Amino acid sequence: MLDVEHEERVVISVVTKRADNWLASAQLRPTKQRMALAEALVGDGHHRHVTAESLFERVQRTGGRVSLATVYNTLRAFCDAGLLQEVTVDGSRSYFDTNTHDHPHFYWEDTHELTDAPVDQLKIMQLPEVPEGAEIASVDVIIRLRRKLS
Ligand SMILES: [Zn+2]
Repeated sequence: MLDVEHEERVVISVVTKRADNWLASAQLRPTKQRMALAEALVGDGHHRHVTAESLFERVQRTGGRVSLATVYNTLRAFCDAGLLQEVTVDGSRSYFDTNTHDHPHFYWEDTHELTDAPVDQLKIMQLPEVPEGAEIASVDVIIRLRRKLS
């Protein structure tokens, strides 16, 4: 006999544990709101790309009670702590990526979705020389996609 209630509890504790470890890795205190967002971000163990709005909706669906402003501020705090990487697609649209390693992205123009592009297939042979006194902080590769008209 399968103990469904027990199974559910085990799943919940794994999700909570992942979120807790994730916050602890950046020495962030696991407040209730941070935990709710951390669980939605990394609880299933998969990387994801979210906007403040998409994460807000995700947390609402699971019964979480946080304001959009809190989601936005907490995402910023996670970024500052090095837990997330911000990917700006255009001036107004920021995505937050749980994968903080350098990697290229696909941006789907019709659905405004950001997904990972295969990093092993990207070869950057040369970058332009930077002005004197400057150094490259980062190189963002975002490949914009649109669906073919059949
Ligand atoms: Zn990514």
